[in-house]
Amino acid sequence: MNKNLVPFQNLFLGGASRQITIQEGCDKFCSFCVVPYTRGNEYSRSVEEIFAEAKNLVENGALEINLLGQNVSSYKSSIFEKSEKKQVDLAKLCNILSSLPELKRIRYITSHPSDINDELILEHKNNKKLMPFLHLPVQSGSNKILKKMNRKYSKENYIDLINKIKCEVKNMAFSSDFIVGYPGETNNDFEDTLDLINKVGFASSYSFKYSPRPGTPASLIKNQINDEILDKRLNKIQKILNDQQKKFNETFLEKEIDILFTNLGKKNNQYVGRTAFLQPVHVISSKDLVGKILKIKIERLTSFSFHGKILSS
Ligand code: SF4
Repeated sequence: MNKNLVPFQNLFLGGASRQITIQEGCDKFCSFCVVPYTRGNEYSRSVEEIFAEAKNLVENGALEINLLGQNVSSYKSSIFEKSEKKQVDLAKLCNILSSLPELKRIRYITSHPSDINDELILEHKNNKKLMPFLHLPVQSGSNKILKKMNRKYSKENYIDLINKIKCEVKNMAFSSDFIVGYPGETNNDFEDTLDLINKVGFASSYSFKYSPRPGTPASLIKNQINDEILDKRLNKIQKILNDQQKKFNETFLEKEIDILFTNLGKKNNQYVGRTAFLQPVHVISSKDLVGKILKIKIERLTSFSFHGKILSS
């Protein structure tokens, strides 16, 4: 993993930002992944259960809810509306949850590109509570490797999807996961991944050296990539991804943006919050900011976090 980035599961600490597991398991069977074997088939919790949990969290101070699932975009359930049974997918669920007046931000993670439907894109366009930030793991930009990984989409499908979303939701930003050095990955395959990165432009990303997981089909493949090549490719991809992240972050300098404060910082009177795109923002204040959404002017960028000052309270 890029060591500058905080794992997603650590981003959502604090009472103002909470998590709800809405889905477990996965039916996709990517060749490198243990989830379908360890967590079983996809299972979605009921809308009623999720809504009750969200309502309880919001009544106890949550302003943001992160909907979690191993394959969250495959969420599928149903509700009765006027005694008629209606299907509920992730888009509809986000819409239902946004009816909670005190809930200000909704996120979801982790999605599979094949499950992002038009309804979800439209929900991002029309529902201001649904954050314009999508973590959409691509893993590789080589069609040969994507096929071996059993990812069920091509490089072109992925780029088309990103362009379609960007077209509908102008301020949408993307993060992704990359596996470097999947068995059989040639220089050309790796170059295809770099090409995809350059075509998409990611706001942040996680990149990993491939390592075999016991029990997965990929662990049985003979031509594993040697460590020297893995290291070189990882360094190269991380440099490009870090540059893209820096470039994205620099566009926020001097801007005034809404920040949800969730935690105390390490320094005296320092508070830490997040932008809509999950960038951490540090602010010094004599007043307690935790649990507030405030307009902040971004003044400095250090490494991968912002420093700013309060414009409203
Ligand atoms: S990588 Fe994601 S989509 Fe693929 S099998 Fe694992 S959980 Fe499912």
